[in-house]
Amino acid sequence: MENHQNSIPKILEEYGLKDASLKRIAGYDNANYLVVSDGKRFVLKTYPFNLELHDLLLAESDLLDHLSPGSSAEYPKPVKSTSGESLIVETVNGEKTLFRMLTWLEGTFFSESLHIPELFISFGAFLARLDKSLLSFQNYVYKARQYDWDIQHLELCEPYASHITDPAKRKLVDYFILQYKENVLPQLPSLRKSVIHNDANDWNVLVNGDDVVSIIDFGDTVYAPLINELAVAITYAVMGKADPLSWAVYIIQGYHKILSLERREVELLYYLIAARLCLSVCQSAIGRHRDPENSYVSISEDAAWDLLHLWLTINPERARRTFGAAIGMEMYDDESVKEKVQKRHRYINPIVSLSYKEPVWTTKAAFQYMYDGFCNTFLDAYNNIPHVGHSHPKVVEAGQRQMAVLNTNTRYMYDLLSTYAERLLAHFPKPLSKVFFVNSGSAASDLAIRLARHYTGREAVMVMEHGYHGHTCTGIDISDYKFSNIKGPGRKPYILGVPMPDTYRGKYRDELAGQKYADDALGLLRSFSEPMAAFIAEPVIGCGGQVPLAPGYLKSLYLALRERGVVCISDEVQTGFGRLGEHFWGFEAHGVVPDIVVLGKPMGNGHPMGAVITTDAIAEAFESGVEFFSSFGGNPVSCAIGLAVLDVIKEEGLQQNALEVGNHYKKLMNEINAEYQYVGDVRGSGLFLGFEIVDESGAPNTALAAHIKNDLRNRHILISTDGPNDNVLKSKPPLCFTKQNAERVVNEIDGILTHLNMELS
Ligand code: PMP
Repeated sequence: MENHQNSIPKILEEYGLKDASLKRIAGYDNANYLVVSDGKRFVLKTYPFNLELHDLLLAESDLLDHLSPGSSAEYPKPVKSTSGESLIVETVNGEKTLFRMLTWLEGTFFSESLHIPELFISFGAFLARLDKSLLSFQNYVYKARQYDWDIQHLELCEPYASHITDPAKRKLVDYFILQYKENVLPQLPSLRKSVIHNDANDWNVLVNGDDVVSIIDFGDTVYAPLINELAVAITYAVMGKADPLSWAVYIIQGYHKILSLERREVELLYYLIAARLCLSVCQSAIGRHRDPENSYVSISEDAAWDLLHLWLTINPERARRTFGAAIGMEMYDDESVKEKVQKRHRYINPIVSLSYKEPVWTTKAAFQYMYDGFCNTFLDAYNNIPHVGHSHPKVVEAGQRQMAVLNTNTRYMYDLLSTYAERLLAHFPKPLSKVFFVNSGSAASDLAIRLARHYTGREAVMVMEHGYHGHTCTGIDISDYKFSNIKGPGRKPYILGVPMPDTYRGKYRDELAGQKYADDALGLLRSFSEPMAAFIAEPVIGCGGQVPLAPGYLKSLYLALRERGVVCISDEVQTGFGRLGEHFWGFEAHGVVPDIVVLGKPMGNGHPMGAVITTDAIAEAFESGVEFFSSFGGNPVSCAIGLAVLDVIKEEGLQQNALEVGNHYKKLMNEINAEYQYVGDVRGSGLFLGFEIVDESGAPNTALAAHIKNDLRNRHILISTDGPNDNVLKSKPPLCFTKQNAERVVNEIDGILTHLNMELS
C-alpha cells in the first residue's frame, strides 16, 4: 500500500489532472490521498483488488450518482476518468490495485462542532433526506452484502467478543447481544428495509454553523432495516453525554419530521443502539487482536464502553417511552401500582407478602440493576439469589440451550449430572464427597435432617435462635425464626434452641465469647431430654440480623457434638458460593468441616436449585432406607445452569470482587457509623452485610430502619431489614456489585440521615 506514489502521476493523468499536489490522509484500512489540482480538491482512494470490493465500489458510484445527479455538495461525487470510468484497476509493484477519485467536501467534523440541540435536529433531518432519496435506490450488490459492520448481522461479530479480555466488559456485550436476539431478531422480518449509509458517525458527518451539510464515506453502506441508520447515528452522537436519551430525542425529532418513523422501529432503538455499541467494541477487540499496532481500530472504544455501561443503567422502558414521546406516540400502561396489587390479591393471598410501603413493579433486570414498569432503574443492593447478576447471559444461554436439547430426571443417564456433581464437590474439603440434588433451600434442609436422623437413629435437632432453614413442615420445626414467631406454631418437644452467639448485643462480647456461647449450648444439650441427631446453623444468621457466629464457636461446639455422635449441618443457602469473600463457604472461616452442607438460592442464579452435600458414610447409611427421588433435582437443565454459575464465579473473579467491594462498603459504612449515632454496628463479610440501626441510647431503632429502607426504595435502591427487632439493614447484592455501587448506597444513607438530623435540630 505504501508505494503507490510512483504510480499516482499516471493515475492522475487518467483523470486528466496535471500538476496536482498530493497528501496522504488517514483511513480505516486503506490508503487515501488529498489531491489538489487547479484550486479544486479531490480524494483519491486506493484498495488492494478483490472482486467483491470491485463490485461494491461500482455499486457505491451508482449510489452517489443517484444521490447527487447535479452539483450538490451534500455527498461526494465520483470523478470519472477521461475514458468515463469511475474505477481504475492498475497493477502497482506487482499488486493489482483499485483506484477511484471523489470530490472533496468542505465542513467541520460533527465530532469537532459545538453540540447544541439545533445541530442534532439538523443531523436527524439531514439523515432523513438522505434516506428518503435512497428509498428509491435499488442495488443487488448491497442486497447480497453480508458485512460485519451491519447490526442485522450481529452474529458475524459475536465471535469477536472472545477477544475482549476483561470478563466484566465481555459479559456486558454478551448481555446486549442476548437482548438483541430476544427483542430485535424476531422483529427483523417486519421492519422496512432500504439501502442506508450505515456509518453516520461523528467523523463522517460534516457541519457548517449549526447545520449538518454533508456526509462522507459510504464504505459501510448496506441494505438493512431503515431504523438502523438512526441507531448508528445516535450511538456516536450521544457518546460522552451524561443524558444520552435527551440528545437522541433531537435527532429522532429532526428525522421524523422529514421521514416518518413507525412505532415498531422506535420501540427497538434502545436495543439497536446497544447492539451497535457491541458491534463497535467487538470490532475494536478483533482489530487489536489482528493488528496490535493499529490505533485506528480503537478510536472511539473508551467512549463506546462508557456508553455501554451507562446504557445498562437506563431502563429500556424509559428509552422506549422517551423516544416514542419525541414523535408524539403514546406508549403507556396506565394501571397504577394500587390496581396491580389489588389484581394480585384477587389470586394470591397477602400472606405471600410484598416488600416496601410502595411495592416495586419489576419488569426486567440486568446484573445489579432492576427495572420497573414506570421507567425507573433500581440498584439492587439486596438480592442474593441472582448471585452472578440478574439475567446473566451465560447462565440464561446455558439454560436455553439445554432446554432445547434434553430435560429429564435422574432415573436416566446423562453426563451433565456427574459433570456438575464433580465440579460442585471439588469446592468441598474431604470427607464431603456426595451430593443429593433438590430444588430449593427448604427441600435441601428438610433432606439434610432426614439424612441425619437416618444416620443417627435419633430425632431431636439442636437449632439456632432466630435461624431460618425453610418452609416445609420440618423446615418450620427447625426454624426458630418461624416457630417462635407470635403467629408461629411454637417449639416442638424434640427441638432444642440455643442462643445466637452475638458479640454485639448478646450476653458475651469479648474474645472468648465463642467458647462461652458454645459452653452454654452444651449445657443446654446436657439437660435436654433426648439424644440429639443434628445441629443446624448458618455461619452468619441472616434472619437474626446478619449476625456472624462468634469466632471459635463452631470449632468448640462441633468437637463436643461429634463426641456425642451429633451430625453437624451448615446451612450455606445464603452464605455460600463465594459471597463471604475470604472463603467459598461460610464454615471455612471457622476452621471446621461439617458433616452435611445445605445449598440453595445462588446455586442456579434464580433457577430453582438446592443440594445437600455430605460424607460417604452418611450417604451410605441413607441407602438402606427407601429410594430417594426428586422429579426435578439435578435435571440436565439445572446441571447446565449450575455449571454456568460456577464458571461465571470463576471467570469474573466474583469471590474476590465480593471481598474487595465488601471491604470498601464496610469501610464507608463505618465512616457513617462514626458520623451519626444511628448506626450501631457494621458487620458481616464480603457482600453479606448488616448495618444495625439504633437510637441515642443504642437500643434497636426499628422505625428508623424502616424509614431508611423505604426512603432508599424511593431513591431507587433496594435494601431490606431483618433481625429480631427488624432494625438491621441487610445488604447482600449480586456479586458483580461495584465499589461505585456501594458508594451510591452509602451516599444515599448519608443523605437520609443528614436530612433526619436537620429535621430534628
Ligand atoms: N436456609 C436459609 C438460610 C435461607 O435463607 C432460606 C431462604 N430464605 C432457606 C434455607 C430456604 O430456601 P428456599 O426459600 O429456597 O426454600
